[in-house]
Amino acid sequence: MSDRSDAIVLFGASGDLAKKMLFPALVQLARDDLLPGRVIGVAASDWDDAELREYARQSIVEYGDGDPDSPAAIRLLSVLSYLRGDYRRSDTFVHLSERLDGAELPLLYLAVPPSLFASVVAGVVGVGLHEHSRLVVEKPFGRDLDGARQLNKTVLASFPEEAVFRIDHYLGKEEVLDLLVFRLANTVLEPVWNRNYIDSVQITMSESFGVDGRGRFYEEVGALRDVVQNHLLQVLSLVAMEPPIAADARALRDEKVKVLRAVRALEPSDLVRGQFTGYRDEEGVAGDSDVETYVALRLSIDSWRWAGVPFYIRTGKHLPVTATEVLIEFKQPPQMFFADADAPPHPNHLLFRLKPGEQVTLGMQINEAGEQLRSRNIDLTYEYSQEHEGPRQLAYARLFQEAMDGEQRLFARADGVEAAWRIVDRVLTEHPPAHAYGQGTWGPPAADDLITCDGGWHNPPARNAR
Ligand code: NAP
Repeated sequence: MSDRSDAIVLFGASGDLAKKMLFPALVQLARDDLLPGRVIGVAASDWDDAELREYARQSIVEYGDGDPDSPAAIRLLSVLSYLRGDYRRSDTFVHLSERLDGAELPLLYLAVPPSLFASVVAGVVGVGLHEHSRLVVEKPFGRDLDGARQLNKTVLASFPEEAVFRIDHYLGKEEVLDLLVFRLANTVLEPVWNRNYIDSVQITMSESFGVDGRGRFYEEVGALRDVVQNHLLQVLSLVAMEPPIAADARALRDEKVKVLRAVRALEPSDLVRGQFTGYRDEEGVAGDSDVETYVALRLSIDSWRWAGVPFYIRTGKHLPVTATEVLIEFKQPPQMFFADADAPPHPNHLLFRLKPGEQVTLGMQINEAGEQLRSRNIDLTYEYSQEHEGPRQLAYARLFQEAMDGEQRLFARADGVEAAWRIVDRVLTEHPPAHAYGQGTWGPPAADDLITCDGGWHNPPARNAR
């Protein structure tokens, strides 16, 4: 018996996530000859196999490579079937179990609203499928620390941790993994990767668009829950964790959890919240909504490596550009013989631009041409597109592949999810009101005050937005 999953079950196959992300990823798997022999979509719509295949075709046209007649797309459609059923009814799972007869380690993918997670798990357990399946759980893992604990309890009552794959698709992104490799594969970085040389760290995820008609969804979430608690704290953990003793799932996840546990829980004075003007006019948004579409935070890590080094995180909608960056700012040299007294040099820095146009830049000082010895700023930049042609692997394709192999290093562990919720838990409810900010600006001015003592925000320049 191989330990690779030879079937995928998509709970929520007729939903938005399936259309935007999952079918395009499955086509990539088919292209790389990694698709299992059965992909079964389970949902409530009164569809048959042909209708699900049509939905998948539309998904490929709108969100995939655009060609629903490619050999890979045809292969996906040929293994795709539909099972209509209500997740709250046990007969749905009886039929599913019959369809899965003989399948090895089927991957059960919960692309369903969180309110249905427990029903699906109960249904799966009712027919004994949990004994030889893997469970993929989509975010959000709860709405707060208590909710996350409850969800972990529900899932872990029936599935061992080794069979649970909690998706934070950021961890499947090649550009995020590139950051990890850059940091840990270069000896020259390790001696300076600490409080003695690093002054501050900034993580920015800006979006030039708004809530895209998903106001009702966003009202329940806000920026802190939507991207900080999961994606951006995952990025922080990759920047700040201790080097693991190996690159396997346990070693990597041990270190990530350790550093998240060392992050001080946020207090209301550590964050500035904002809301773009016009948000309250969106469909599904309350007229007096205080939900944040922007948040900026200052975090402290109580560890030997990072004590005293502020980590700033900022994200927002309707900002001037769509970009994700990580800026590591080093300290100034103890004496600046060559600096222009009126224009202090920019300190050395490492800038990881994750999106768009992935690149890494090392900001250094060099001697200015001319008679005087005077330093000036230069950027040494590597662009990943110099060597990579064509589209990168989709994060969801990588995550499907790893989950089917039972490889957990790119998935969040129960204690990691709870450690991340602990950081934000208090300020989810106890927080300053959201400041209004104009669309196309860099957020409320109050957010600048948070970071003034560390030189201000580095705003990503405009490039190809979105
Ligand atoms: P969605 O569009 O509302 O889809 C929900 C799916 O669940 C549909 O296939 C629906 O079937 C099915 N369903 C709902 N109630 C059911 C029931 N009682 N019995 C059987 N099927 C039922 O949701 P989504 O946006 O795809 O999100 C799914 C999950 O992914 C959520 O946890 C969400 O937070 C997460 N997520 C979504 C996105 C995204 O971009 N959409 C991004 C990240 C994470 P019918 O439509 O056939 O009724």
